[in-house]
Amino acid sequence: MARRALITGITGQDGSYLAEHLLEQGYEVWGLARGQANPRVSRMRKLLADVRVVRGDLLDQGSLISAVERVQPDEVYNLGAISFVPMSWEQAELTAEVTGMGVLRMLEAIRVCSGVSRGGGGAGSSGQIRFYQASSSEMFGQVSETPQTESTAFHPRSPYGVAKAYGHFLTQNYRESYGMFAVSGILFNHESPRRGAEFVTRKVSLGVARIKLGLATQLRLGNLEARRDWGFAGDYVKAMHLMLRAATPEDYVIGTGRMKSVRELVEAAFAAAGLDWERHVVTDQALHRPAEVDLLCADPKKARAQLGWEPKVSFDELVAMMVDSDLRLLTDGGDPDQDSSWP
Ligand code: NDP
Ligand code: GDP
Repeated sequence: MARRALITGITGQDGSYLAEHLLEQGYEVWGLARGQANPRVSRMRKLLADVRVVRGDLLDQGSLISAVERVQPDEVYNLGAISFVPMSWEQAELTAEVTGMGVLRMLEAIRVCSGVSRGGGGAGSSGQIRFYQASSSEMFGQVSETPQTESTAFHPRSPYGVAKAYGHFLTQNYRESYGMFAVSGILFNHESPRRGAEFVTRKVSLGVARIKLGLATQLRLGNLEARRDWGFAGDYVKAMHLMLRAATPEDYVIGTGRMKSVRELVEAAFAAAGLDWERHVVTDQALHRPAEVDLLCADPKKARAQLGWEPKVSFDELVAMMVDSDLRLLTDGGDPDQDSSWP
């Protein structure tokens, strides 16, 4: 019988790539979708026609229990979150509820539905549902060492990073308390043509496309000196699946091991469209963050050695892919806020 996966965050970037990957692997895929008339759910239904939808919200414990009862999943991927760092200062409490407490609610739904009692902890007593938590390199924040590994200390620099750290430790705790197969992937920034338009890579690829097509002349950005380890989302969702199919439940750092600055990203994206970035990019102090994460760089050695995982798409290929995709999207009259450039 086909394995069954339940994905929260199905309407997001990673949800779409993960669903495609699991469908290709022969899985029956269910997506948890929230809201009464969420346009992102209709978009997802059109593009991922084989994904089945179950209603639920990470803010609502009962809905998660019902979803797990209905789907009876073999694997749960918790990708749902408020995922944009600046938003987490504006809505810190909501971020804590969705990105942090949402993990607790999902773990509890699995625990209750697996019949694991609070007194009955210990390895092996967890039932069969395997759980993946979307942890983030933002937990490292102000880094104590570079590159960052699974044992680098956390010093989160935003309410988002703090909420992710809570979810991360809780996932470890449910593994240790109840013997659950519960793991966290500490994923570094990963991007694609489906990335939300608010994140810097997509903001840049859309900005370049608008300027190239004569729809804009300027691109306004914040801190150009921040450095990130950027990879391709399509590669990273494969690591999520490998983690849940591993023999033992363990946490892994997932990234490329290469770091670029926002400035280098901008140079590469404008060059991909034959443009000179210095003629178009304006920096704006208002786009700087109250506390910045200056640099992030993964050491993905453990994932390579134990999971056989390697990123395939290089930084330059990723930038070119995003710029090409946004040029096509805008040339075809698409609305990036509505369509993104799904598949
Ligand atoms: P997106 O922002 O694209 O997607 C977020 C998803 O969360 C959406 O499907 C959204 O659904 C859902 N969501 C928001 N609020 C709720 C809620 N209350 N209940 C249920 N679902 C909700 O994120 P990505 O796909 O880029 O990332 C996936 C996960 O990985 C996130 O947890 C993110 O924090 C984490 N991560 C991402 C990294 C990256 O570089 N992309 C790096 C490290 C971690 P809706 O359409 O209803 O709003
Ligand atoms: P994050 O690493 O999860 O916060 O991903 P983002 O893509 O939002 O930001 C990556 C880096 O780009 C951060 O250090 C930001 O400060 C920097 N950056 C510079 N200008 C911008 C901008 O205009 N928008 C965003 N989102 N980030 C910017």
